[in-house]
Amino acid sequence: MKFLNFLHPQHGPRLGALLSDAHVLDLTAAWPVQPAPASVDELIAGGDAAVELARQCIAAAGGTAGMLPFADVTVLPPVALIGRNVFNVGRNYREHIIEGNLANGRPAEAFPSAIEFFTKPRTALVGHRGQVLRHGKLTDSLDYEVELAIVIGRGGRDIPAERAREHVFGYTIVNDVTARDLQRLHGQWFKGKGLDTSCPIGPVVVHASAIANPDALALSLEVDGEERQNDNTSSMIFNVATVVAQLSAGMTLMPGDVIATGTPKGVGFAQRPPRCLQVGQTMRARVEGIGELVNAIVD
Ligand code: MN
Repeated sequence: MKFLNFLHPQHGPRLGALLSDAHVLDLTAAWPVQPAPASVDELIAGGDAAVELARQCIAAAGGTAGMLPFADVTVLPPVALIGRNVFNVGRNYREHIIEGNLANGRPAEAFPSAIEFFTKPRTALVGHRGQVLRHGKLTDSLDYEVELAIVIGRGGRDIPAERAREHVFGYTIVNDVTARDLQRLHGQWFKGKGLDTSCPIGPVVVHASAIANPDALALSLEVDGEERQNDNTSSMIFNVATVVAQLSAGMTLMPGDVIATGTPKGVGFAQRPPRCLQVGQTMRARVEGIGELVNAIVD
């Protein structure tokens, strides 16, 4: 099951299900009881019973008559519109760490011994096909980072790694857009990774039942059709369960929390010469089993 938030032309923001990667079922309208969830966050809040109702709505939908073409709907960020910042894992892919070390004049094989966590503010969120601002007055080094993102279903604290997957509602894609010069200038990463529109997310949240192994998903990113990143989540140093366990240690996770898990090699700043994002370019971030998150850079 793939869930999304979309803007219905007459009824405003709604919860939808993406069928065959082409048709949007209006789950808010199809919901058999009231109140109906109007967003993925509200679906998550409904727990297992709500997921079961969604499953029944999708099964009962039959053909695609009355559904909206996915290509035509305005897609909103699927999660994190309420609640708190998006959580992020810093350097987590071996070869990306090496390319960053080399670009920054550090020893190539210096790997983190604990997970580096940071956050992005909700004001940075932008959905599939939303525009990403170039912020040309502030930065000369805007960069892309395709990432698998975890969406928490059941909250908790001190979640052991072996139970972590029970707390996951599903998975989405985050493009952790980063102003490299601001990331360095301000010491901590928050400013350089927190500018408006620097958190493209979506297009959908895939329910965890549809992802057999989140630690074995191909992921890639193209800029104007040229592949820049191509790796697999199996290259992560800290896997999905470890990320949930470490972040929840002594810190309560809540339903709807999003945790982006880090990016593989191929970012723009580490290329020689560096190749940063420019106005008019289009990024396509893909994660196997989830889909494609497309965003253009604008002035
Ligand atoms: Mn990142």
